[in-house]
Amino acid sequence: DNPIQRKPAWIRVKAPTHPVYHETRALMRDQRLTTVCEEAACPNIGECWSQRHATMMIMGEICTRACAFCNITTGLPNTLDADEPRRVGEAVAALGLRHVVITSVDRDDLADGGADHFAQTIRAIRAAAPDTTIEILTPDFLRKDGALEVVVAARPDVFNHNLETVPALYPTIRPGARYYHSLRLLDRVKQLDPSIFTKSGMMVGLGEKRIEVLQVMDDLRSAEVDFLTIGQYLQPTVKHAAVDRFVTPEEFEDYATTARGKGFLLVSATPLTRSSYHADRDFAALRQA
Ligand code: SF4
Ligand code: SF4
Repeated sequence: DNPIQRKPAWIRVKAPTHPVYHETRALMRDQRLTTVCEEAACPNIGECWSQRHATMMIMGEICTRACAFCNITTGLPNTLDADEPRRVGEAVAALGLRHVVITSVDRDDLADGGADHFAQTIRAIRAAAPDTTIEILTPDFLRKDGALEVVVAARPDVFNHNLETVPALYPTIRPGARYYHSLRLLDRVKQLDPSIFTKSGMMVGLGEKRIEVLQVMDDLRSAEVDFLTIGQYLQPTVKHAAVDRFVTPEEFEDYATTARGKGFLLVSATPLTRSSYHADRDFAALRQA
């Protein structure tokens, strides 16, 4: 087991007390929807849910992968719920969201990796809430030929796939995935439909070097990725990878400035940045610009 380190002062999170937080929670319960905010024990839940910004996780709560940083349960996945896309659409309409982020567990067990379910969910949201912009955060669809094309054809506004960490740490941190496959996936989205914004993100504090982070930025820009998120890795339980160190707010500021200099259109790099943190606010600001 890896003991959990005490967090520095800049990581402290406020307890959720806002009334809208409870409304968001009740709606997720009523529609029987899973959120990554809860499943991943995200430190921003109080802030995000108080603004109705929840990231829904489709295709069940059980993942076929076991990434060393992730709090989602690994095992035999749930049966695919054919009614889920409709309920997600209804929840998005009920929340009155201008922007929604939809993610999923990895479904290596399904022939298409869940691509068709993703596409159906995008279409259901479009039908129920035509003014809402849609961001999807997908698995890597490794060894699922044709899956990516199905998702891209449903035309999300933002296609996000996280590289999560630097290539040297893949064997220990993201053992089921391949760095260059993930990078190629993002590149391919842009080739298939240049009107879709692409986005990726990584965690720091896992033992990576600054120079490696800068190389990941360059790799992403070579694949024409538009948006970047970088946040501090926090260890969910003693069974997960240990935090190597807490990256300081000044170092995050340096990553943010460097990333903007490399041409990313949107950059969020702070200790509490998560893939979907402020995604609604930032994307709305970009569209107005
Ligand atoms: Fe949910 Fe993302 Fe906000 Fe975390 S940052 S609470 S996962 S919307
Ligand atoms: Fe978590 Fe995604 Fe890895 Fe599954 S594939 S364990 S949901 S990070």
